[in-house]
Amino acid sequence: AKSQQRGGHFYFSRSMGVEIRERVRLMHALRSGVQRKELFLAYQPQVDLGTGRPFGAEALLRWRLEDGTMIPPDRFIPIAEYSGLIVEIGAWVLREACAELMRLRAAGYLDFTMSVNVSQAQFRHPQFVEVLRRALEDSGAPPEFIELEITESMAMEEPQLLAEMLAQVKRTGVSIAIDDFGTGFSSLSHLQRLKVDRLKIDRAFVTEITGSARGSSIAAMIIQLGRNLGLSVIAEGVEDERQAQILHALGCPLAQGYLFSRPLSPQGLLEWLGAQGV
Ligand code: C2E
Ligand code: CA
Ligand code: CA
Ligand code: CA
Repeated sequence: AKSQQRGGHFYFSRSMGVEIRERVRLMHALRSGVQRKELFLAYQPQVDLGTGRPFGAEALLRWRLEDGTMIPPDRFIPIAEYSGLIVEIGAWVLREACAELMRLRAAGYLDFTMSVNVSQAQFRHPQFVEVLRRALEDSGAPPEFIELEITESMAMEEPQLLAEMLAQVKRTGVSIAIDDFGTGFSSLSHLQRLKVDRLKIDRAFVTEITGSARGSSIAAMIIQLGRNLGLSVIAEGVEDERQAQILHALGCPLAQGYLFSRPLSPQGLLEWLGAQGV
């Protein structure tokens, strides 16, 4: 038993070493990948559940290595955050998403909104509001068509600081959504004080919705909460018609997911919008 235990321990620390080395390797690759412009954005349409009409898109970061390998964001974004690279990458994402919004507007989509993910480290950076303001000014993107998605976990720490930051961000005219809502445990009284505009129901609760009656209870609660607080609500990760129907019946006005479209290239988005007859 003893040698087994030691063996187990050895294996554990060795695999940890491999994991750390792998992360350091990725961090260097990411740094040069940024310079080599290997990052780009994909856009996932968001639709009105009542009418089926698209009203906006979420910008999602992609990384393709020179050899064509795609590294998923869940793998490299934590590394970008940890290394601080996210500040530079996030500023680029903001500028690029604003530029794409302007291209869509030039193509005639004047009511279209663009949602941009903002990570904690990026949001907390002292220059964040300035970077945001510059991205808006330089692109000419109207702030009322830009939405920032911050995660619920961010809303939990240092509520006072967050409230102040949000107030500053809101003064630029952009709106704020709380992403992955329901996965953190933010206090509801705190939520009421924060100046947010929209709750985004996490995919986990959308997946559960078609199971039991209990399966839909969290989604139903979030939709009701949004209504009571006067906030917009969108469901993410909607994959089938039944989920869309139940969400609509529960009073969820907006949705996003593979049922409507996967994340698309800028050209793909224009073609998809055209195919929707808008
Ligand atoms: P998220 O913000 O929750 O984004 C939704 C994720 O769900 C995206 O994964 C999207 O492609 C995926 N998705 C959309 N519809 C469906 C569906 O119907 N079914 C399933 N199974 N998945 C669906 P993706 O693009 O891999 O992004 C993963 C995460 O990486 C994002 O989760 C977000 O937290 C982060 N991320 C992506 N882009 C950015 C960015 O520009 N900045 C920051 N800070 N984070 C980003
Ligand atoms: Ca998001
Ligand atoms: Ca999300
Ligand atoms: Ca999610």
